[in-house]
Amino acid sequence: MRRDVRPAGARPVTLLIGAHTPEAGGIAMAVRRAGAAGMTAVQVFTAPPQYYGEKVGVKPDRLARFREACAATGIPPAHVLVHAGYVLNTASPEPEKWAKAANGLAKELERSTILGTYGCCFHPGSAGKADRDAGIARVADAMTRALEAAPPGTTRLLVENTAGAGATIGRTAEEVAAILARIPAAQRGRAGYGLDTCHLFASGHPIHESPAQLAAVLDAFEQATGEPPAFFHLNDSEGALGSNRDRHRLIGEGEIGVEPFRWLLHDRRARGVPLILETPQARDDWADDDASADAYDVRMVELLRTLAA
Ligand SMILES: [Zn+2]
Ligand SMILES: [Zn+2]
Repeated sequence: MRRDVRPAGARPVTLLIGAHTPEAGGIAMAVRRAGAAGMTAVQVFTAPPQYYGEKVGVKPDRLARFREACAATGIPPAHVLVHAGYVLNTASPEPEKWAKAANGLAKELERSTILGTYGCCFHPGSAGKADRDAGIARVADAMTRALEAAPPGTTRLLVENTAGAGATIGRTAEEVAAILARIPAAQRGRAGYGLDTCHLFASGHPIHESPAQLAAVLDAFEQATGEPPAFFHLNDSEGALGSNRDRHRLIGEGEIGVEPFRWLLHDRRARGVPLILETPQARDDWADDDASADAYDVRMVELLRTLAA
């Protein structure tokens, strides 16, 4: 099992702050836009997220362009987080849908590993009206299959907590821990989880109340799973506490507010892991060859650096 292995008292070089940057022109351009915004990490899709993508590979020229962009920006592949397709519902009780989702997840991890990225995060999905525990087991089975089929590497497969709408799985520390507990020991080191601040808040975790409350929420996840989060998504929330609404806002323009992000950035668990903004962007009309930074992304990164100082 992976633990936090940094020696006590060691200072990190820098926080790994990034965003899910505009994707026009592909992953290499997304990395270049992150570099232009002064980021030290980035999140990308490696296939259109509304499809299963179970046949999409990584061609050598794409890998080469990605590596060139990483070298040019100083953002190494190990600071790149991949977000899996939204359509993959590995909790589905319908065998055909589950099989497609499991194959899609395996392909996500394959692409993420070939690219040499930090990890691939995914939403566990929904069991619908079916039994929740069986849904948890199906998520773990899909993860195990993906991990067993993955090429050698260190790229991890990471469960993302959910905002809790409908019957989605992964809204509590216990549910995330129950998924990870079912991964066989041989595969467990490449499995993990990450936390989205908007999803935490929308699913009823009072991270906005005080530094102690935020720490208690993170403690609960760490104790239940046996490890700290492998990444954070830093998003403010349009919906109220417990609203189960998955609508992201710019930090400081939602119901969470600015201060909880300052507390989080000063928590030991924010060090050394990707801290990824998925907040609204100023533009959505990107040309494929436009490597400039989004104005809102720049503003958010500057805000986070101020809060972290
Ligand atoms: Zn997500
Ligand atoms: Zn979300």
